[in-house]
Amino acid sequence: MNPAKTVGILGGGQLGRMLTHPAALLGIPLIILDSGSYTPAKQTLLPPQNTSHLDGPFTSESHIRELAKQCDLLTVEIEHVNADVLEQVEREGLCEVQPSPGTIRLIQDKYLQKKHLAAKGVPVAPFEALPADPTEEDVRNVVQRLGTPVMLKARTLAYDGRGNSPLKEVESTSIKASLEFLGDRPLYAEAWAPFVKEVAVMVVRNKEGEVRSYDAVETMHRDSILRVCLAPLRAGGMEGVNLRARALAEKAVSTLEGAGIFGVEMFLMADGTLLLNEIAPRPHNSGHHTIEACHTSQFENHLRAILSLPLGSTSLRVPSAAMINILGSSSSMDPVLKTAEAAMSVPGANVHLYGKTESRKARKMGHITLTALTDAELFTHLRTLLLAQPDASV
Ligand code: ATP
Ligand code: MG
Ligand code: MG
Repeated sequence: MNPAKTVGILGGGQLGRMLTHPAALLGIPLIILDSGSYTPAKQTLLPPQNTSHLDGPFTSESHIRELAKQCDLLTVEIEHVNADVLEQVEREGLCEVQPSPGTIRLIQDKYLQKKHLAAKGVPVAPFEALPADPTEEDVRNVVQRLGTPVMLKARTLAYDGRGNSPLKEVESTSIKASLEFLGDRPLYAEAWAPFVKEVAVMVVRNKEGEVRSYDAVETMHRDSILRVCLAPLRAGGMEGVNLRARALAEKAVSTLEGAGIFGVEMFLMADGTLLLNEIAPRPHNSGHHTIEACHTSQFENHLRAILSLPLGSTSLRVPSAAMINILGSSSSMDPVLKTAEAAMSVPGANVHLYGKTESRKARKMGHITLTALTDAELFTHLRTLLLAQPDASV
């Protein structure tokens, strides 16, 4: 192993926090850039390491340049960073950046991402750009071509479905409400994908181009936000969905540049075909179970990939696993802590709390990973966990 290189992470949320755990095991120094001195990722590094974190926005040129000065390599735990500055930093030879800033920029704009994937032959739902400040008429025109329902989406700064507005009928009031909800961000429209399941695959790639995918998982969303994830994917009656999903995810990632972990979201249609929804150029919520359920977690494999260390096995080490997000239900931390405490009595459950001090409705506050030797055991324990939710927080 080469002497430890210092890795700078843009973003200090829960994904950064979960990168700090394998970094500590492998002795990899990390410096986190985010606003605030006590973000989820900054909490887990003990002094003197945590005193060197940078307090500032991950979109700020001066802060990114300062981070680059102190590190051998920069990476991201969120895609909404300043990709232009990352590109300059790399071009000037100040610091290596993984994955490539060009990939991060492409993914930031969900419309350009879709265009890129479609051009590379990756199947996606029909989609169309909307003009700036779209009128009701613009929406009606797009709906005429894409049909109803239609999903109106913000092209940029989208996460946890907060940039999505499903339009079920083409009525003035609904269109106005959707446009108002989405605000003044650039928008595009996507034909509704009447999927039977949502599927996700984590893919890791190193600088030499070696690619390894994890087993596909089933992701269950409500109101566009991930609630539960089941690993591996059970696609009863549909032959080979896992292998096809892995192959599609690997193909999609191979069209992008740079090393690291990628989260690939897909829709499984009734006829067994798969449509790609979107790619995240970073660790992803649908790969959290890999910490307890796989030989090498998505977080450790990300660090290995960007540091040119041998990639670890992506195989499951248990037959059956699930991940349940703990979402905030109000400003009170009580339901979150109650859910976490209840899970501690369930065999095979591992509780992760992200150290966020403020709860908000639908905010990701933590998650629970459940592992089991059989599906029957998994579903019994899953039921116990879901029933223990103090309100509809899952
Ligand atoms: P993330 O937190 O995964 O980054 P996001 O805000 O980027 O989410 P999407 O992944 O585009 O949003 O959509 C969130 C969810 O909304 C999807 O997982 C799916 O459940 C639903 N959804 C999105 N697009 C469509 C579509 N075209 N048809 C039907 N449902 C959709
Ligand atoms: Mg997204
Ligand atoms: Mg998504």
